[in-house]
Amino acid sequence: MDTDNPVELVPGVWQIRQQLNDEVPLYLHLVVGTEGSALVDGGLPFSLPAVERLMAAAGVPDQDLRFLLNTHAHHDHIGTFAALRERTGARVVADPAAVRWIEDLEVNLREFALHRPDIVSDSPELRAELAPTFGKPCPVDVTMTDGGAVRLGGGLVLEAIQLPGHVVGELGWLERSSRTLLLGDIVTGTSWSFFHGHVLPGQFRQSLHRLRTLTLDEDVQLVCLAHYASRTSHEFLDLLAEVERYLDQVTETIEGALDDMPRSLTEVWRQTCAEVGRIQEFRGLAMVAAHLREAVAAGRARCVGPDLYVAVRSGG
Ligand SMILES: [Zn+2]
Repeated sequence: MDTDNPVELVPGVWQIRQQLNDEVPLYLHLVVGTEGSALVDGGLPFSLPAVERLMAAAGVPDQDLRFLLNTHAHHDHIGTFAALRERTGARVVADPAAVRWIEDLEVNLREFALHRPDIVSDSPELRAELAPTFGKPCPVDVTMTDGGAVRLGGGLVLEAIQLPGHVVGELGWLERSSRTLLLGDIVTGTSWSFFHGHVLPGQFRQSLHRLRTLTLDEDVQLVCLAHYASRTSHEFLDLLAEVERYLDQVTETIEGALDDMPRSLTEVWRQTCAEVGRIQEFRGLAMVAAHLREAVAAGRARCVGPDLYVAVRSGG
């Protein structure tokens, strides 16, 4: 896997980039205080050498790694946690809703990728593709919600910010002394060949709005993201607007696929993939199903049978 050299973005905040495939980069971050350090997300199982390079460049010996801070429980954010926790004694900190997936990888795989085996089948090919990206299960030591924080000494404090939407339970981390915001996938990829996905569309929109407000109110100077290069606050606000436009496009495409005649989840999913130009896979399916559920809850669609939906036309 293609890996860059570690860089110190601002004093105490280190980053290393790995290229997961042709289109998806992964950035890992280490925050270094005078009394200990915190790794934000653990990458994939084979990210361990990259984490070691990051720690070496930042001058962090094993015993100084005190926290493994999770943004969310997707496989490319937790892969080295078990090995690092065992070796360094660092404590794993996560959103309460992320715990099950970090501690039980069979549940994680099933609910993440095999949630509708009747539509996207549990095939040997899919298993073979995903199996190496799942590491060992890891106990979560501490759960955190809004207002929680870890102190690293030297004035460095990482505050937890709950950002649901991409998944049910996701945390961002705000380091106030350098005004640095560290994020996982709440700012999703918008232009990959597959839908990066979001399972709570309404909360996704609220979290993007919260991030804009936070960036302005807290005078954030630097934003570090898992799958985008780091950004100044201005660049980040532009990126938020881009993701909001993408969410609008996805919403309009999915709800626009509905009609007076019942359309099935599978039909709407296939049409959405075709119209937005994405391959058909499990992330996009979960996203389309979530949009349909929310359209029904908001009264814009009606469920007229198992996985069957019709549009509710306003004024009609
Ligand atoms: Zn993710």
